[in-house]
Amino acid sequence: MDLIELKDVHKTYYLGEVAVPVLKGVTLSIARRELVALMGASGSGKSTLMNLLGCLDNASSGEYWLDGKEISKLTAKEYARLRNRTIGFVFQSFNLLPRTTALENVMMPLTYSREYLSEQQKRQHAADLLRKVGLADRIDHQQSQLSGGEQQRVAIARSLVNQPSILLADEPTGNLDSRTSKEILQMFQQLNSVDGITIILVTHDQEVAQWAQRIIRIKDGLLEDNSEPVEAGSAT
Ligand code: ADP
Ligand code: MG
Repeated sequence: MDLIELKDVHKTYYLGEVAVPVLKGVTLSIARRELVALMGASGSGKSTLMNLLGCLDNASSGEYWLDGKEISKLTAKEYARLRNRTIGFVFQSFNLLPRTTALENVMMPLTYSREYLSEQQKRQHAADLLRKVGLADRIDHQQSQLSGGEQQRVAIARSLVNQPSILLADEPTGNLDSRTSKEILQMFQQLNSVDGITIILVTHDQEVAQWAQRIIRIKDGLLEDNSEPVEAGSAT
């Protein structure tokens, strides 16, 4: 069984009495260590699908198997634990806390996990991750003192703090210039190929999608083509 399996997943939002069907029967498998791009027009349901994959929201119907477990069968505690230990998130808008240093931002998720680590060990772990993303000399900088690319690196370090096996990145380069985007995409590629992290990258940019091994397209609530390999090394 693959790491991620969706079976006939529907998602309908309700605005008062009005039903807004967004996902209309999505079936999808993503293997361990894949780097997949999810593409689609604005409003096509990319973020909705990511929120389901990230266990931030529930499907209206269908099955979601994550790491061999059907998530609707889990207790609230098991569900939260699976999300915290398995999935890291990176967003377009970085989502760092203002007036807070890079180190503190990376340490933040540890407040709710890995209670067995001492404060010193948490600092050490966060600092190691900031070095890993190339920010050794920005550890004590506050959010406002960092460039967009640096903020996204902090956000990537933060997403790794609980050693997730999956990274979900929703338009992670949407607010970055092309040179900085390339640096960030290289980092994702390395996290995938070296650290073996499964990555799902949402983008509406064909050039960004070329960094993936496979492109999944969503249109009118359905996946268009679920098996379009990208030639290895074709990224520019
Ligand atoms: P994308 O990320 O591809 O731009 P979204 O998943 O954000 O698309 O949104 C898909 C559709 O669902 C849009 O029409 C959007 O307006 C609608 N939508 C998203 N979130 C909600 C919500 N919480 N309540 C109602 N409608 C929503
Ligand atoms: Mg979106």
